[in-house]
Amino acid sequence: MSARPSINIAGAGPGGLASAMLLAAKGFDVQVFERRSRVGGRTSYIVDGDFKFDAGPTFFLFPQLLEEIFAEAGADLNEEVEMVRLDPQYRLVFEDGPTLDATPDLDQMEREIAKISEADAANVKKFMAENAWKLEKLSPVLQKPFNGLADFIDPSLFSALPAVRPWASLDQDLKRHFKDPRTRLAFSFQSKYLGMSPYRCPSLFSILSGLEYEYGVYHPIGGCSAVSEAMARVAQRMGVKIHLDEPVEQLIFDGGKKKVAGVKTKSGEHRADAMFINADFARAMHRLVPEGMLKRWGEKKIETKSFSCSTFMLYLGIDKVYEDLPHHTICMSKDYEGNLDDIENQHRLSADPSFYVQNACVTDRSLAPEGQSTLYILLPCSHQHENIDWSVEGPRYRELALDRLKLIGLDDVRGHIVCETMITPADWDTDYEIHKGAVFNLAHNIGQLLHNRPRNRFEELDGVYLTGGGTHPGSGLPVIYESARISSNLAAKDFALA
Ligand SMILES: Cc1cc2nc3c(=O)[nH]c(=O)nc-3n(C[C@H](O)[C@H](O)[C@H](O)COP(=O)(O)OP(=O)(O)OC[C@H]3O[C@@H](n4cnc5c(N)ncnc54)[C@H](O)[C@@H]3O)c2cc1C
Repeated sequence: MSARPSINIAGAGPGGLASAMLLAAKGFDVQVFERRSRVGGRTSYIVDGDFKFDAGPTFFLFPQLLEEIFAEAGADLNEEVEMVRLDPQYRLVFEDGPTLDATPDLDQMEREIAKISEADAANVKKFMAENAWKLEKLSPVLQKPFNGLADFIDPSLFSALPAVRPWASLDQDLKRHFKDPRTRLAFSFQSKYLGMSPYRCPSLFSILSGLEYEYGVYHPIGGCSAVSEAMARVAQRMGVKIHLDEPVEQLIFDGGKKKVAGVKTKSGEHRADAMFINADFARAMHRLVPEGMLKRWGEKKIETKSFSCSTFMLYLGIDKVYEDLPHHTICMSKDYEGNLDDIENQHRLSADPSFYVQNACVTDRSLAPEGQSTLYILLPCSHQHENIDWSVEGPRYRELALDRLKLIGLDDVRGHIVCETMITPADWDTDYEIHKGAVFNLAHNIGQLLHNRPRNRFEELDGVYLTGGGTHPGSGLPVIYESARISSNLAAKDFALA
């Protein structure tokens, strides 16, 4: 064992990579083991011929947080990756009208909302101001670990309580400002970033739209995967060893106790003083921890938890560029609530689902050959459930997705497809090792947040820390990076490197 305390990390997703950078900066000797042949996990890329697509995230929010992590690692995010702030941030197409281009220019945004309701438009700035206040109150809460009830005796939390309104859903909370359900959706659909419905998502998450309007929606040139690659580059410059195609097969326990002493991979045993787990939490507990060892997060208990939705994906290489379609377009189904009920409660496929399209080449020509482009199509849907057999539904849903594109003005896509890749919830489950294909992890309801989420200093195994969307504060890139910061600060404190 080296003189410096050593840490193994299972997984080179955003959580694992941010942890690697921060732990190396604090003086740990870090090794990362990644099961796939590239870094980034869900924030990696898919290549099909000459076309490159982001696999998962396409909305890059609040880069300021990652800038801080890069600075702590002695690097500059903006030197590593070019970030473009988008305006319009995205287009919102309501199936029953109207179409809005969401912009951080609030005077213009009022005019856009006036297409729905003049009365709602008059409240846009007040809502934004309240959100800025909420974000200020909540930031300290999202930056600290929650290890137990003692952590609730904290002045930052008490001062945040009026902003949290734990009894209200996001949609209920927005009714204080906006009468028309479509306006409320324009400022609450962002709960989908957490894989949740605005009708069930806790009201505190209105800060997501606040983050967009206050700090911007960015596109990293090369895609969000370019950020993951930059993180790996910086970590390696700091001496972190990243082993690709090398899954952690087993945790090594010290004398049968709950102290993790290292990992077993195809190249042998790798002992270390501590361990970070970035692999999908539920899957990792199932695969890596012997049955019966865990009480709170054992296999049977995990099955009683609520999981996020999944996504059906098409990545299309196109032989032309749709110049009039903005970078991001979200189309809200006429029966938005019914679509969400199908996803979250009925676990069936809707006949007229909402969908999202990324037309990245209007911003970033590096992703496709000259004169051609990429279309990324995402339909939120149920996580894996016995009601849905994706080997049958996949091809049918592809046709439905292509038909639905007409709603956003794309009526000739079928004739321009050069290549395509499809990912269903079943593929997220098997190819990406994500429990139930629930790509946004454990659901973000109040009963599964803060100390009720698997904790950053994992409560059930000694010497284990969690990082990524499965732990506190939750899923979505900014908070995943924050989880890395919380967990690495805890490790530094535990090893007296703080
Ligand atoms: C379709 C989609 C769209 C999304 N859109 C957005 C968005 O626009 N904005 C946003 O902020 N977030 C978005 N997200 C959510 C989230 O930001 C990403 O999913 C993010 O990549 C999750 O990061 P993570 O570190 O928690 O896990 P992951 O990215 O899944 O990384 C975990 C890593 O662990 C590896 N691993 C698993 N098992 C093992 C093992 N046994 N040994 C070694 N390695 C292992 C995996 O291969 C993977 O590389 C989206 C997610 C998806 C799927």
